[in-house]
Amino acid sequence: MEIVVAKHMGFCGGVKRAVEMAGGTAEAASGAVYTWGPLIHNPQVVRRLQDAGVRVAGALEDLRGDAFVVSAYGVEHAVLDAAKAQGMRVVDATCPVVIRAHSLAFKLVEEGYSLVVVGDHGHPEMVTLKEVLGDKVTIVHDREEAARIKLRGKVAVMSQTTQSQENFRQIVGDLSLRTKELRVVNTLCPAITVRQEEAERMVEEVDALVVIGGHHSANTTRLWEIGQAHRLPTFHIEVADELKADWFVDVTRVGVMSGASTPDWIVSEVLLRLDEIGQGHEPTEPTRPTQSQAERA
Ligand code: SF4
Repeated sequence: MEIVVAKHMGFCGGVKRAVEMAGGTAEAASGAVYTWGPLIHNPQVVRRLQDAGVRVAGALEDLRGDAFVVSAYGVEHAVLDAAKAQGMRVVDATCPVVIRAHSLAFKLVEEGYSLVVVGDHGHPEMVTLKEVLGDKVTIVHDREEAARIKLRGKVAVMSQTTQSQENFRQIVGDLSLRTKELRVVNTLCPAITVRQEEAERMVEEVDALVVIGGHHSANTTRLWEIGQAHRLPTFHIEVADELKADWFVDVTRVGVMSGASTPDWIVSEVLLRLDEIGQGHEPTEPTRPTQSQAERA
């Protein structure tokens, strides 16, 4: 079985930066370091960070200690205020791409636009935007939802940074037919769009697709959706152990892609296991990275 590995794999710049900032903060801290919920949407990386001293707070009362690290997608003001009230040092690991998208949203609202954002309800990036803009912004997840919203005055549309290009394109098309003039601001993250474009090409060249990334990772799910939309056998896994040999019985070329919060060491383990499956071998125990490799991840 031939294994075709995507060009764009592993951490994007924003995730790499957040993981390094959190790891560095824990190393230098004299007390507890917390994030609010997972720092990034990859449980294996979050576990490693916990081992290195970065704890995940589940309630405001947990926020006690030396430092608070803001996740790559931002955090609600109430949480930030609670951390500050406890005297915690705030380390802002919000991705610059997300900050830029939010700034554009604020500017559009200031200019009097009625703002529509294509995004996932409940995603931290959308929650923090809604928190500031309230009813001046409407978040829509799909075309059906977009079709139900009332459009008044000047309308602008933008997207969550990790949205599907295709979903954004379709909703922009629909809205443009319902407005005299529509301002479109493309806030899709380039690190995500290159992976989606590569997925669109790859699905034409392989018999099956393996997408590696957190099961709650929005951008990984988008890659899986592209495979599904092309009716290609597509498997979304977090770790190599989830791979099953019988998925690949009639497969001669398998494509492998990863979400933007998947570390290189998990990608390596998956490739090793796929190679074994392709050769009909039993799985071997994956080589665990050294401490320094884990820290770099
Ligand atoms: S996917 Fe893009 S927006 Fe999200 S953390 Fe990575 S670089 Fe930032």
